[in-house]
Amino acid sequence: MTAENRRVSYFYDAEVGNYHYGQGHPMKPHRVRMTHNLVVNYGLYRKMEVFRPRLVSPTAMTRFHSDDYINFLKVITPDNMGDYVRQLQRFNVGEDCPVFDGLFEFCQLYTSGSIGGAARLNDNAVDIVINWAGGLHHAKKAEASGFCYVNDCVLAILELLKKHERVLYIDIDIHHGDGVEEAFYSTNRVMTCSFHKFGEYFPGTGDVHDVGHADGKNYSINFPLNDGMDDKSYKSIFRPVIGKIMEMFAPGAIVLQCGADSLSGDRLGCFNLSVKGHADCVRYVRSFGIPMLVLGGGGYTLRNVPRCWTYETAVLTGEEVKDELPFNDYFEYFGPDYRLNLPVSNMENLNSPEYLEKTKNQLLEILSDVEPVPSVQIQTGQVESQLNPRGMNLEVDGPTEDERKEHSSELVG
Ligand SMILES: [Zn+2]
Repeated sequence: MTAENRRVSYFYDAEVGNYHYGQGHPMKPHRVRMTHNLVVNYGLYRKMEVFRPRLVSPTAMTRFHSDDYINFLKVITPDNMGDYVRQLQRFNVGEDCPVFDGLFEFCQLYTSGSIGGAARLNDNAVDIVINWAGGLHHAKKAEASGFCYVNDCVLAILELLKKHERVLYIDIDIHHGDGVEEAFYSTNRVMTCSFHKFGEYFPGTGDVHDVGHADGKNYSINFPLNDGMDDKSYKSIFRPVIGKIMEMFAPGAIVLQCGADSLSGDRLGCFNLSVKGHADCVRYVRSFGIPMLVLGGGGYTLRNVPRCWTYETAVLTGEEVKDELPFNDYFEYFGPDYRLNLPVSNMENLNSPEYLEKTKNQLLEILSDVEPVPSVQIQTGQVESQLNPRGMNLEVDGPTEDERKEHSSELVG
């Protein structure tokens, strides 16, 4: 399989666009529908295999989340909130993470795309899976956070670990990928790498010195950044750090969270990336030819997110797309220029070349301490060696052969 010719699978369910977090809330899953509409109108849809896995069961979500948290998400509605005052507080649901009609179905949908996508990669049915509705990286084991309820990134990684010895998680959302980092903080089977705004900014974690714990030491990589990151500076750090990770960690599969709130002009963000600059990360990760699950994430300027994710869909399918937008259902949103690329601003980049160089070198130093992967894979043939990694603090239930078959048959072409 050449780098130019990859089998790409794409998850879309029209229902995803139907859920809203409430009046005036910046997180609109509607972005996913707008993206889909552009993808269709550019003809990119025809370059991919579309899949819609059966909805995951609540039990599948408890591979990471606690039973009582998932049960709560199942029953809570805007009408019965008064009966769940204590739980709302305990699970951090209600304010930043509002209750809305269809909340649980919404979680099931985007999570199904990510777990189902990981299962498709495991089956070697495709090389790349895209789920723009996924990437809700802040959710914790028993707590919602930052508009995230169920952590589909963690659940997808757990699925990939059934087959792959090592999985790499990369996060280019402007916010720290804290939920994913925390889940895998003490295992050496998952390396997490997050590039994010740091300092008086949500969620507050992701210091360069937070490198993992116990067997997971040096397997959490954090690049804290200041306002104004532009294309050139981002590329100057992203490529060397990811290149070094590929060399040292040699992952069997990659989950790439493509939060678009790192774009210039984002309503909640403070970086200055163009669509092309953001997509350069996708292009670079794709170039390694490793099975990839590509997820969405943040992105709060409605007209920019679909531009970014559509362009990245083109990059992943290896297609060229013209800058002039095709006519689409949301055409008026893209005025006055109606172009795919967006202009960046003249904001100051508060990341000096010296700071970037110094932090990059700190991370390369940490990565040079990672135990090199043996060039010849040692296969013991014992199921336990695959499913109970050193230091894994999660219960990874291994699939029985029947479960695997059942799961595969849930997937429709
Ligand atoms: Zn974000």
